[in-house]
Amino acid sequence: MIKNLSNSIRAKGTVIAIGIMFLACVISFGFMTALFMAVHYNDNLSIAEAHELFRYYMIATLILCIVLGSSLLYLAIRKVSEPIIRISNATKEVAKGDFSIKIDYLSNDEIGVLAKNFNKMTTELGNMEYLRKDFISNVSHELKTPVASIQGFAEMLQNKNLSEENVHVYTTIIIEETKRLSNLSANMLRLSMLDHQSIPESGKLFSLDEQIRRAIVLLEEKWTKRNLELAIDLEKIDYTGDDSLTQQIWLNIIDNAIKFSRDSGTISIQAKKTADVVVVRIQDQGMGISDVDQERIFEKFYQADKSHSQEGSGLGLAIVKRIVEIHGGDIDFTSKVGQGTTFIITLPLPLE
Ligand code: ADP
Repeated sequence: MIKNLSNSIRAKGTVIAIGIMFLACVISFGFMTALFMAVHYNDNLSIAEAHELFRYYMIATLILCIVLGSSLLYLAIRKVSEPIIRISNATKEVAKGDFSIKIDYLSNDEIGVLAKNFNKMTTELGNMEYLRKDFISNVSHELKTPVASIQGFAEMLQNKNLSEENVHVYTTIIIEETKRLSNLSANMLRLSMLDHQSIPESGKLFSLDEQIRRAIVLLEEKWTKRNLELAIDLEKIDYTGDDSLTQQIWLNIIDNAIKFSRDSGTISIQAKKTADVVVVRIQDQGMGISDVDQERIFEKFYQADKSHSQEGSGLGLAIVKRIVEIHGGDIDFTSKVGQGTTFIITLPLPLE
């Protein structure tokens, strides 16, 4: 009961009102007793004088009740409204973009809860602002690097005395950097579209094992160049989903497995189906991911291994994660530095 009182402004208000009424009663009772004594012990008092005295006592009681009651009410209202005014002013600061503002008001009542939630909100907004700034600085960095390199090599190409070999090297770099820019903008566009999508756009029935085989063929040039062996074990799986999106999952994960493998290693690709899910495992024997990096690899633009940063933009896994989420699935991985990484993608099957 006492705990409930301290948790509710309505209860506090009721207690204050009862207190003021009680005080008024005590004051009235005190004055009435004083009046009774004055009349009772004064034998010489005429009726008119007694009436006059009674009037004075009534007016004095009324004035005292009004003055004391309204002073107490004013103090109580001020105590309740003061944090509300503070929250209102803080809201104005938030509207101006200042998310560092916090309200220092500890109480279990509704205003205390409001202040606590307000502080939580400004912390969240501050984090979002930080992420937004971080995102913008990542994008501008990723754009600036290839643009600067294209500009530099294009200027060098203007030199008329360049050998044919150098012209070839410089134009190859320009073409590579242009491809990188084009991939980056395509990936950013894809991610932004996926961020606004919550369910697969087209629910088509297709062969998932065939799709994974096609991804392996599309990446053939890359894995043969590294002399990698592929151990493929794919069950026949019919799956309903957005086939152009799921294709991205296999292309990105297998591409990473190739990129981070040592030459002449083995990549195992396995797909199994149970009554309600499809589980795809892609395992490499590459460099692995450190414990610190493991927590961040799904973040946009995060690249743990800077030596391969030229070959990607750190958006691949963020895109994969989003596609898996849109299909109601789950992506997990295990990794050991120096031993390799296994990605496990689980996609739910509709109930038969
Ligand atoms: P990137 O374009 O750099 O490949 P991703 O989002 O696909 O970006 O991957 C993010 C980071 O996760 C990579 O830069 C790499 O450091 C790490 N990573 C992803 N897959 C593997 C893997 N199979 N082995 C080791 N590290 C990996």
